[in-house]
Amino acid sequence: MVSYIGTRELQKHLQQAKPETAISRMAEMIREDYLRWSQFDKTPRVASHSDVGVIELMPISDGTHYSFKYVNGHPKNTHAGLLTVTAFGVLADVDTGYPRLLSELTLTTALRTAATSALAARYMARPDSRSMALIGNGAQSEFQAIAFHTMLGINEIRLFDVDPAATEKLIRNLSSRYPSLRLIRAASTAEAVRGADIVTTVTADKTNATILTPDMIEPGMHINGVGGDCPGKTELHADILQQAFVVVEYEPQSRIEGEVQQMPADFPVTEFWRIVNGSVAARQSAAQVTVFDSVGFALEDFSAMRYLEKFVLHRDTPMLDLIPEMMDPKDLFGMGMADLNISNEKTGIAPAVPIHA
Ligand code: NAD
Repeated sequence: MVSYIGTRELQKHLQQAKPETAISRMAEMIREDYLRWSQFDKTPRVASHSDVGVIELMPISDGTHYSFKYVNGHPKNTHAGLLTVTAFGVLADVDTGYPRLLSELTLTTALRTAATSALAARYMARPDSRSMALIGNGAQSEFQAIAFHTMLGINEIRLFDVDPAATEKLIRNLSSRYPSLRLIRAASTAEAVRGADIVTTVTADKTNATILTPDMIEPGMHINGVGGDCPGKTELHADILQQAFVVVEYEPQSRIEGEVQQMPADFPVTEFWRIVNGSVAARQSAAQVTVFDSVGFALEDFSAMRYLEKFVLHRDTPMLDLIPEMMDPKDLFGMGMADLNISNEKTGIAPAVPIHA
């Protein structure tokens, strides 16, 4: 039997545990896993591109557990009432190869991306950072705002989206829940970014966009670039990268998908695990511009599934009969042809357990 965490299970968990607690705990588990970077068997994700989007598989293993995530990115989906990003994933035991958890990862991806962004900013942003510009106010955006408010003490966020309804939705969702967070509507990206300590870009458009241009960048800013995560899909003008200290998650993947896809192959980048373990300093001076060129790496989903097992699974979590359970593992045919009305003891086959939605 395989444990199953669906969207509703996670909704219940978030309402009880609170998103800020989930994000902070997940960030700690992501940090723990980045600290043991060398234990992981890593590979860039496998992407299948179309004109309108991408479908990706993200596998990773630490030798004890294996996980993969299925995730899509379709920026035009929202026009049809669908999410831009959806995901689900599996956590399995390496010793047997048996899956132990099948889970929704759409909400989980938003949590883990926000957790990773804030974790990176905790190392890379100026410690006195108090304000952030948040460009792109879609599905991921509230999670980003909560993560920076909770983990870094950001208490003022200036918002801009080309769709003003998205900004209104964010304000509606957060203003009463987080009264100490000042949310300010801006008329343009430039207005939102002016004077901000941190800039998060989390827009969706399948193009080489220049959401941020060099004239908007001020000394000491930390840029958290989240929306550029696919070949031909970027958010930052290349000259910003040229002048900044750039951190990526996993270089072989980021060279293909990240903002640094715009740069020559020898453009210097630093992998995030080196920042986490302290072997490379995240910031040389208060005036330095830093960029976390986030694309989302499988390790973060591995950590997120560890979180789901630890904090979301409970006694009554539904189980799926995804894998046959048999007395004679060589008798798969017998199992397939068994009369489902005959009792379990006679066939040695575990009964199907209904999934309650
Ligand atoms: P979404 O479609 O719900 O929201 C995107 C928002 O960006 C929309 O409201 C849209 O109006 C706005 N936008 C588009 N172009 C803009 C522009 N030029 N200026 C200002 N706003 C603009 O998508 P989402 O689920 O919030 O995801 C946002 C992005 O983050 C996507 O590109 C997605 O692929 C990426 N993402 C990255 C990671 C990661 O780990 N790095 C994880 C999840 C999602």
